[in-house]
Amino acid sequence: MRRLLAFAIAALLAAPASAQQDLSKVEVRVERIAPGVAVLFGAGGNIGLSYGADGNIVVDDQYAPMGDRILAAIATVDPDPVRFVINTHWHGDHTGGNEAMGNRGAVIVAHSNVRTRMSSEQFIAALASKVPASPAAALPVVTFEDGVTLHLNGDTLHVVHVADAHTDGDSLVHWQKANVLHMGDTFFNKMSFPFIDLSSGGSIDGLIAAVDKGLAWSNETTRIIPGHGPVASKADLAAYRAMLVDVRAKVAAGIAAKQSLAQIQATKPAAAYGMAEGFIKPDQFVAFVHESLTKPKKHRH
Ligand SMILES: [Zn+2]
Repeated sequence: MRRLLAFAIAALLAAPASAQQDLSKVEVRVERIAPGVAVLFGAGGNIGLSYGADGNIVVDDQYAPMGDRILAAIATVDPDPVRFVINTHWHGDHTGGNEAMGNRGAVIVAHSNVRTRMSSEQFIAALASKVPASPAAALPVVTFEDGVTLHLNGDTLHVVHVADAHTDGDSLVHWQKANVLHMGDTFFNKMSFPFIDLSSGGSIDGLIAAVDKGLAWSNETTRIIPGHGPVASKADLAAYRAMLVDVRAKVAAGIAAKQSLAQIQATKPAAAYGMAEGFIKPDQFVAFVHESLTKPKKHRH
């Protein structure tokens, strides 16, 4: 999974042609996690799938070149078309399939900042990655500010915006009856420190608040879909929150003691959590937290 994420990010950065070639080798695997709910693992962000009498609803859709394999994998669960796509945020490893799904008639739903960012060229500073504007068919056609609720397949799907977390357009998706929660990229489960995309409006405090919202929706039997990594439990999400809070406190203490970022990194505030080989390295995560606590959002670009 760690290798897959590194690969996915490499593909995100690569030119479309070579990304297409690399992504052609990726298989899409389906895991059914609750009645009417499955997860699709491939390259890029984990896809949540609601299926049943009312058709298919997907939460995120990975990369454009994966579109046919994702649709084929969905068809093995339920041959009906995809009626709705919900994007947890704007990043290309979660929205790349939008164009294919939109062209086949799916209604794409997301927070208004997802549409805004996808509508123009973006620069992800931490990855030094310039991302072109998305084609019109890939843009969300239904946008919301606080959230939206879908009543389909005998369940109630609450889509709720969490502010300034991984980006400024994140949403969590909660299946009330199935007791499933999709955290988007506010949760990287075990395989890497989280990516806080500060240039897209993310922040450590927003990330912790998003996790608190997810925990409040969860109980001991909730199946939690992270943006990346295997399906998790409430205990996994709670451990992740404890890590975020611990590293934040250590970085804040260093800032209060007038230490530089390099001095704080030298104290290894994140080393206790392993994941040294993850996509986001411990020192980089510390740098995200440091920037988040020292630079007011309005000065970021
Ligand atoms: Zn992301």
